[in-house]
Amino acid sequence: MTKTLLVLLFAFTVQAEPPDFAAQTKSFRETLTALVRADTTNPPGNEGRVVKLIAARLKKEKVPYTIIEFAPGRQNLVARLKGMGGKKPLLLLAHEDVVGTKDQKWSVADHDVTEKDGYLYGRGVIDDLGMATLNLETFLAIKKSGVKLQRDLIIAFTGDEESGGLGIQYLLKNNPELINAEIALNEGGGIVLGPDDKVKSVKLGVAEKIYVDLEFKTTGDTGHSSRPKPNNSIYRLAKALDRLANYKAEERLIPVTRAILKAQANLEQPPLKQAMLTLANSKGKLPESSLKVLRADPVWSAILKTTCVATMLSGGTKTNALPAEARANINCRLLPDETPDQMRERLIKIVNDAKVDVQIVGEHSSGPASPENGVVPSAIRELIREGYPDTPVIPTMATGASDSLYLRAKGIDAYGFDPLAVSESDLMREHGVDERFRISSIQPALELNYKLVLKLAQ
Ligand SMILES: [Zn+2]
Repeated sequence: MTKTLLVLLFAFTVQAEPPDFAAQTKSFRETLTALVRADTTNPPGNEGRVVKLIAARLKKEKVPYTIIEFAPGRQNLVARLKGMGGKKPLLLLAHEDVVGTKDQKWSVADHDVTEKDGYLYGRGVIDDLGMATLNLETFLAIKKSGVKLQRDLIIAFTGDEESGGLGIQYLLKNNPELINAEIALNEGGGIVLGPDDKVKSVKLGVAEKIYVDLEFKTTGDTGHSSRPKPNNSIYRLAKALDRLANYKAEERLIPVTRAILKAQANLEQPPLKQAMLTLANSKGKLPESSLKVLRADPVWSAILKTTCVATMLSGGTKTNALPAEARANINCRLLPDETPDQMRERLIKIVNDAKVDVQIVGEHSSGPASPENGVVPSAIRELIREGYPDTPVIPTMATGASDSLYLRAKGIDAYGFDPLAVSESDLMREHGVDERFRISSIQPALELNYKLVLKLAQ
């Protein structure tokens, strides 16, 4: 390597002054308060309100941005900080909409931010306006610092995450170049505080089960119910459902679920601890005695297999008419290495009746798990080791779905990691009453997010 090249490299990697995190904490609180007050309860969403606030801030800081309307009054916003193009971009994603508070009895104003007993309360402070604010502040701090980035840094704010992800889907379909990235950070994991408010563990979302609805439909001869005919659509459907009810789904481990069990075992007590370790290290057939222990817990049972369950039923139109048609909705949650089409084929075999029509309902995305040992997990592990020694980083697979699912389906390695530390019990308040997090979590989150983004993008 020539001397000039070395000097050049040094110039590119030189550290800029770190931001004033105390000032940033103040700005974080102001931004979060404004976003919560915007009230983006979904439905209807009204995400344009949050977009307006973020756009005003970006304009003030002279950052260009793109607004994409996916429905009237409902918008996504994307902005980019150019890097040198040495690597593909890093995307910081957060959603703008929040879950409603109707019929919930809050002890403070729901769509405002209230400081009480060292906490900030308000709908969305955790899910997901806290992360939206954090991403915005980090993005602006990095711009201000003038640090040279290897990758472009993209921030995206999407709507409708809480009702199926219309915002991200629209973006990926119509403007995919805006958020095309190699890696992404999103909600769905993060720093977990124990009951003593000390950092207990870090959950890193690497995969999500795939949500898919299928419909069983049967048809039969109609006519007057006083003259029954052999071809009854309800009986036929009932038989199909009975076969599904008696079907035992195969329990199996994939690399990501093995890694989850191995890491999670550190936090568990016997006999669950031992069962998890035995399964994680097993070769060939999974040992029945360990499976039994996990099956006793619905959460751990769901990690072992794809699940399908009948959730809705309809048929017939009149009490005295033979039913022309009967339908059942089957809700499936697939392990991430399967596809909805494979599931449909399997259900057709289970039902084993050519006269039962099995169809996938609605649009679905499926994507593989993000690599459990990729650049993002390595960077997070390293920073956690530095900041919170001896804290386990546990990979997780969500049984629900977030916007990450759509990113993974497009080949973007998305990870669930929110640096804003929240206690286990406060996490339970998401979507519920008195959503809150500790004020003392803000500054460490800003510092960690800044370091993480630099580590990944510089
Ligand atoms: Zn969320």
